Amino acid sequence: MVIAKNSTTQFLVTMEFINESHISSLIEDSKLNNIELQREILQKSREAKGLTLQESAALLNITDAELLAEMYHTAKEVKEKIYGNRLVLFAPLYITNLCVNNCMYCAFRRDNKELVRKTLSLNEVRQETEFLVGQGHKRVLLVCGEHPKKASMDFIGESIKTIYDVRVKGGNIRRVNVNTAPLSIEDFKTLKSFGIGTYQCFQETYHYDTYMQMHPDGPKRDYAWRLYAMDRALQAGIDDVGIGALFGLTDWRFETLALLSHAFNLDERFGVGPHTMSVPRLEPAFNAPAAIKPPFAVDDASFKKLIAVIRLAVPYTGIILSTRERAELRRDLFTVGVSQISAGSRTSPGAYKESQESLGEHEMEQFQLGDHRTLDEVVKDVCELGYMPSFCTACYRSERTGDRFMEFAKSGTIGLMCVPNAISTFQEYANDFASGETKQAAESFIKNEMEKLEGATKHKTEKMVERVNNGEKDVFF
Ligand code: SF4
Repeated sequence: MVIAKNSTTQFLVTMEFINESHISSLIEDSKLNNIELQREILQKSREAKGLTLQESAALLNITDAELLAEMYHTAKEVKEKIYGNRLVLFAPLYITNLCVNNCMYCAFRRDNKELVRKTLSLNEVRQETEFLVGQGHKRVLLVCGEHPKKASMDFIGESIKTIYDVRVKGGNIRRVNVNTAPLSIEDFKTLKSFGIGTYQCFQETYHYDTYMQMHPDGPKRDYAWRLYAMDRALQAGIDDVGIGALFGLTDWRFETLALLSHAFNLDERFGVGPHTMSVPRLEPAFNAPAAIKPPFAVDDASFKKLIAVIRLAVPYTGIILSTRERAELRRDLFTVGVSQISAGSRTSPGAYKESQESLGEHEMEQFQLGDHRTLDEVVKDVCELGYMPSFCTACYRSERTGDRFMEFAKSGTIGLMCVPNAISTFQEYANDFASGETKQAAESFIKNEMEKLEGATKHKTEKMVERVNNGEKDVFF
């Protein structure tokens, strides 16, 4: 057990599930560095029932090239068993870059006086959304810094309402996920009432001393308040929560095991594990010392390994990969268990509209991107790689959230709904928003996917696609 002192409130909390000494001992345990043991664990992981923390630590230790290849293959199999070949697409929408915190890795940090600050008006929120819907997006992640006035609950609520109201060519945003500072239970209840999908909040680093170094002041310095954000969100009735760590702040093996500890703990106590787990990796950010020179930079090989281990340890969770990573690496990481990706992203408020007008967005962005392709380009690429781009938002609107979603995901039956819904929403995208070449790629992809289907599922999917091709929008079940 680790007893952590919360420096902001001098409040003592127990954090049994982030047991630093236990995690460190697992990392250093030479007995886990055993090929026979690792092979046995891989065999077990094929059942897609998850792994223990100790088993996950053993897999993180794999260095044998053949066994590593086997682990990647297994991660792909497990991902496909639960989620098939689908890749869910979304884009972030930043509503303000003002922030009262001072995180050492973020360009929005309060002490970055050179950053151009901006909070969108509701009209600008509408314009940003129009751009995204016009690209074909159906889900956005609303993002804001922590600021009691500029990122107030009222403003977040009005922004969400504005986003949901936008219509372009019959398309609209059908799921708004939210990434905000941790809230009280009362505020989480209010956030839920805005009709959000997933509430997302990353611990950044689970390593207490590193956390203190990276958050020298501001409300975010309160480690425990952030760590227990998901408890409060779930208590407030938000069913789907997304956790994550910012890789590069401390040893990636520690961070991975701590992230898994968090996931296991939520599952044990609430019967609902995280809906998603995100794996952002530090990228350069304007005037952010820890991002310019990451203290524990994670190389590509280690990054791939940790993603595969997360997939095997928590098969039911969605793993999110952002456009921080360059296109070539993203393609490789899709093969080891990623199930959700952002595409065509910008990371500063107003940047979608500004990019059309060629204004200097870099002085306003949170961090630099590695993948600058448009949604259309990503969709075509993903399709050609054999993955189905999914614009589906059905579960959230059919009340398959929280433990109901987990029931389907853990049993691997979620695909029975996902396949028809993914195909119908992809057909809708192809009809309304794809460029000529992408539409061609989509048509042939959909045709192939339909040929794989049988019986009632095939019949149902054909009917749904027929309705879409007759002009109906938002066809799902
Ligand atoms: S990471 Fe978040 S809380 Fe920290 S400075 Fe950036 S926007 Fe603010």
